[in-house]
Amino acid sequence: MIKKLLIPIGITAAAALGCAAAIIIGKPPAQSYTAYVYQNGKEIARLPLDGSADGKTITVTGEDGAENIIEVTGKKVQMKSASCPDQLCVKMGWRDRPNSPIVCLPHKIVIDIKGTSDGTDAEIN
Ligand SMILES: [Zn+2]
Repeated sequence: MIKKLLIPIGITAAAALGCAAAIIIGKPPAQSYTAYVYQNGKEIARLPLDGSADGKTITVTGEDGAENIIEVTGKKVQMKSASCPDQLCVKMGWRDRPNSPIVCLPHKIVIDIKGTSDGTDAEIN
């Protein structure tokens, strides 16, 4: 009975390891992302997060003196500063992956990171 039980467990473990290996090998090593900046639902800028926009900042101005400064360092993006009252967007810090947009609700600004290849779907954390 014990041997019969061990075999399926062994197969399952091997399959699980195989899956893990396939995920690691199948992942594109140089996946790069682009930060899309939206204001009032409209795309206003694209910032490549592949290192080519290193050190770049863009200033987004809105109604009533609203101002957000977005900064890219290396392959990361952040809301460097904002004139919004809650500062939640600034507190979100650096982002370098999809699925975690930086949002400034008072100024209706969204920084959404998307992959540049079809491999994005595998990046669910
Ligand atoms: Zn904000």
